[in-house]
Amino acid sequence: MCNWIRPKTRLAIYMRDGLACVYCGRGLEDGILLTLDHVKPKGKHGMNNAASNLVTACKECNDRKNHKPLSRWIRRVSVDTRQNPKNILARVVERQTMPMREYLEDAKYALLARKCKDIHDVRNQYREFFARTLKEIGSK
Ligand SMILES: [Zn+2]
Repeated sequence: MCNWIRPKTRLAIYMRDGLACVYCGRGLEDGILLTLDHVKPKGKHGMNNAASNLVTACKECNDRKNHKPLSRWIRRVSVDTRQNPKNILARVVERQTMPMREYLEDAKYALLARKCKDIHDVRNQYREFFARTLKEIGSK
């Protein structure tokens, strides 16, 4: 299920998106399962797996979005979560255009540090990782 993208890239995108769902805004601390969502599900040449077409989504949002066009999905989730649809769209576009280099570096070191090969469920590993990193930042 998760062989279509390298673990490093998956984690880098999760980190870029603050380990939270770009649509409903819930994060790991809310007990969600992180997944990657293709913003545009299918292009002329099939799936576009570039980081600019991938955002972090909770499993619930990803399942509910399914193959809906982005505009329709954003309208739906904005009603359900009482968010301004413009804010959701702005968040998606912001993430899509972020440079990935630093996130990929961070993800590489995170994976090396954890000696972790399967990061499909990052919930526990990365909660720990972030807690530790926050502690380190705070102690300097
Ligand atoms: Zn969500």
